Amino acid sequence: MEPPLTASTLYLVATPIGNLEDITLRALRVLKECDVVAAEDTRRSGQLLKHFGISKPLLSYFQFNEAKRSEEIIARLQRGEKVALVTDAGTPGISDPGERVVKAAVAAGFRVESIPGACALITALTASGLPTGEFHFIGFLPHKSGQRRKKLESLKSFSGTLVLYESPYRVEKLLGELNEVFPERMVVLARELTKKFEQFVRGKPAELLAMVKKLKGEFVVLISPADGDEPEGREEAETENAEDQVGNNPI
Ligand code: SAM
Repeated sequence: MEPPLTASTLYLVATPIGNLEDITLRALRVLKECDVVAAEDTRRSGQLLKHFGISKPLLSYFQFNEAKRSEEIIARLQRGEKVALVTDAGTPGISDPGERVVKAAVAAGFRVESIPGACALITALTASGLPTGEFHFIGFLPHKSGQRRKKLESLKSFSGTLVLYESPYRVEKLLGELNEVFPERMVVLARELTKKFEQFVRGKPAELLAMVKKLKGEFVVLISPADGDEPEGREEAETENAEDQVGNNPI
């Protein structure tokens, strides 16, 4: 018998990044036993809870302005409530608004507990074939071209694998930039992780640029270290049925 949840605690609950089986027993128990689920998008998280037969009050922490975002959650923790925080997908706090809520809860002296689970960064890195001993998570680059370029230039001196998140709408732009800053590095596109059309596409930025229009969905972008410690195979690995969707050729 697991101990009951602790009062006045913020539970960070990792949720699936595509495959609904990727949620832990502990995550489900916390979602069932908490007083309220604070969600980035209540509609989306409501659907997830429904899928698991959980009915719980949902609280949006994203629709308010910066100052108000965490206020309601802090007020509930002060009242002794057990608050589960979920983001749209994956581990709350990694490149999503969960980070600010945690900061506010810690600053207000509340206990924060992380319920580990799916995370796009780790899912991509571990299957990429790139070195995992040292890696740097960059998250999203800034939006403005000049700032992006500057940031990428600054990463040249890093050792280890570089891991970036990118919006589906900017992956092509990113590959163009990588072609200028890191033309000789091996890049891995980890696409649609844990989903039906999951795919790892490997190549130099120019090679990937030539085929990226055919690739749809969500991406993690990984860049090999400068010292050439690269995986042997440059082939594309994909799950069954993926060919029908993208029809791309191994590089
Ligand atoms: N907190 C989440 C995590 O770490 O798992 C990430 C949230 S961030 C707002 C969303 C980004 O994560 C996407 O733009 C993409 O780069 C990456 N991502 C999330 N799910 C993914 C998936 N199934 N396949 C590939 N990339 C994914």
